[in-house]
Amino acid sequence: MNINWPDALELGPVTVLTGLEKGKYPHGNSVLVKGTNQNVLIDPSLTVAHRGVPIPVDQVLLSHVHEDHIPGMSQLQGIPVSCHEDDAVGLTSIDGLMSMYGLPQSVEQEFRQEVVTDFFYQPQSDVSTFSDNAIFDLGGVEIQAIHTPGHTQGHCAFLIPQARTVFLGDIELSGFGPYYFDAHSSLDSFERSISLCRSLDADHFVTFHHKWVISGRDLFLQMLDDFAKVISNREAEMLEFMTEPKTVDDCVARRFVYRPSVDMNLVDHVETRSALIHINRMLKQGRIAKVREDTYQAV
Ligand SMILES: [Zn+2]
Repeated sequence: MNINWPDALELGPVTVLTGLEKGKYPHGNSVLVKGTNQNVLIDPSLTVAHRGVPIPVDQVLLSHVHEDHIPGMSQLQGIPVSCHEDDAVGLTSIDGLMSMYGLPQSVEQEFRQEVVTDFFYQPQSDVSTFSDNAIFDLGGVEIQAIHTPGHTQGHCAFLIPQARTVFLGDIELSGFGPYYFDAHSSLDSFERSISLCRSLDADHFVTFHHKWVISGRDLFLQMLDDFAKVISNREAEMLEFMTEPKTVDDCVARRFVYRPSVDMNLVDHVETRSALIHINRMLKQGRIAKVREDTYQAV
C-alpha cells in the first residue's frame, strides 16, 4: 500500500509518519502498523492533527497520555483508543490529565488552555485500557506492549517483531535526557525501564521526538547509555555542589536541568522537582545529610 506522507519511512509492515522537524516538540513521529485484519496508529501527533490520517485506521494505541501524543485523535473521531491502565485518567478528563503533570497553579492555567486550543484536547468517553505486556494481533503482524514506566506511570514501548522495530515513545534518547519531573513520573522507574530497554531485540528504534529512527542495535545501546548518563551526571554534579551546605533554592538557582539561557515559565518548577527528587534519593542512599532545616551537605 502506497502511503502519501512527506518523509514517511517504511519498515515492512511499519510506516513512520515523520512529524514536522523530525518530530521536534510540539510535533512527534507517529507510527502506522498494517496487518491483514486491521491497521493501528500509535501516538497520533500534532502533525497528524494538521494533515489528517493517510490510510483508514481501525484502532489507536498510545505509548502514554501526554498532550503531544494525542492531538491527532481530533482526526479519528469514533476510532477506539487504548492506553495502559495507569494512564487512562488523562484521557477521560482534562482535570485527570492535569493531575498527571502536577503543575503549580500559575503555570497550569496557561498550559490547560494550550492543551485545548493548540493540541485539540477532547475527553474520550470510550477508553479501553491494557495491562503490562499486552499483545495486539493485527493479522500476520503483532504489536507487543512493554511497560516502561517512569516518564508516566503507564508509559509503554511497542515491539513489532515482524518489522524488527520498537517504538520507544518518550524514551526519546535526546541530549536533554529523561523527563521525570511530573507528579506521575518516577526517576527510579525510569532507570529500571532504561535497563529493560537494553534487552530489546530489534534493528530499528523509533523515538517520538527528533532523534527519529535509530537503525542498528549497537548505536541504539550507545544512545541509551548516553541518555541514562544525563541522570547520573546530574546527580554527581549536585553532590559536588553540596560539598558546601546547600538548600533546595540554591539548587534551583544553580540549574541542574536547564541551561541558564532557557527562559520558560516551567523552569523553576522543573528545577525544584528535580532538586527534591535527587535530594530525597541521595538522603536515602546516605550520600548527603540534612545539616539544618532545608539545608543539605555531601557526606
Ligand atoms: Zn510525554
